[in-house]
Amino acid sequence: MTTLLQLEGVEKQYGALRALKGVNLTLEPGRIGLLGPNGAGKSTLLKSVLGLVRPEHGSLSVLGMDALRQPLEVRAHIGYMPEGDAILPDLTAVEFATLAAELAGLPRAEAVARAHQVLHYVGLGEARYRPLHSYSTGMKQRARLAQALVGDPKLLLLDEPTSGLDPRGREEMLAIIRDIPERTGASVILSTHILHDVETTCERVVVLSGGEIVFSGDLDALTRPEAGLYEVRTHGRDADLAKALRAAGQTVEDVPGALRVRLAEAEAPTNLLKLALDAGIQVRHLAPLERSLEEAFLETVAKAEAQ
Ligand code: ADP
Repeated sequence: MTTLLQLEGVEKQYGALRALKGVNLTLEPGRIGLLGPNGAGKSTLLKSVLGLVRPEHGSLSVLGMDALRQPLEVRAHIGYMPEGDAILPDLTAVEFATLAAELAGLPRAEAVARAHQVLHYVGLGEARYRPLHSYSTGMKQRARLAQALVGDPKLLLLDEPTSGLDPRGREEMLAIIRDIPERTGASVILSTHILHDVETTCERVVVLSGGEIVFSGDLDALTRPEAGLYEVRTHGRDADLAKALRAAGQTVEDVPGALRVRLAEAEAPTNLLKLALDAGIQVRHLAPLERSLEEAFLETVAKAEAQ
């Protein structure tokens, strides 16, 4: 299988601002979330992949092709849904998608056929002869997704594809995105600051912060419970248990409604129960701490910033 993306030492500056600080990244095909706060450098990274932004240093290959030397060849395999609402409002969805297909290099007849096909796929089949200015925000976003899909890309770059959508529109858009690799064979890189979008659509995640990669790997690895970290709740006696645990040399953190206990290496959680029992405290919940993606993300960014 050809590596989807390989970046080595990629640097991009805008004046004095270092938007990408020597990014190294290897990605295999699949559904990948590019997650980071606003200003992290996500769009700059996507634009570098597309050859729309030229890094000052480093190398960048896409599907085995050199993105800096062969930007047109690379772009022919990529579908791009940019941030914001770039559409041509007076065109119908069919005209808009056909134009995109022709720009992607398809002959006219094939472009028209393909436009109809992708508009059905994104759920705009019935509305496809209406001008885009009459569309709701969710429909416009889907038309823009169709535009990115129409050239039958091997890689789809989606920059904040759910921005401006209401919860229902967002879930509909995410369901389509999640389905794309299986239906079309394309890989997806979804850039967003919204954790939920990544959690529901991606199998892998790259976290970018301040122009640097702070995590790259399976979503599970980011959210996996940390060894030895447990969440404990009692019937109204959290403070007493915290005291007893601290007296026994355990590290305890108070969080609203629970205690977080970090057990020493190789120590069984049953010891924690025994200690509570000895102190006459009834434990009603004891489980390895599952960090939400949000917590994991914030922790990862905070750790990177502290270094
Ligand atoms: P993200 O997509 O994660 O929000 P961007 O890649 O858009 O981040 O931006 C990274 C940083 O580079 C930000 O500080 C942004 O203000 C700056 N930046 C982006 N594009 C330009 C530009 N064309 N000129 C100057 N600064 C830019």
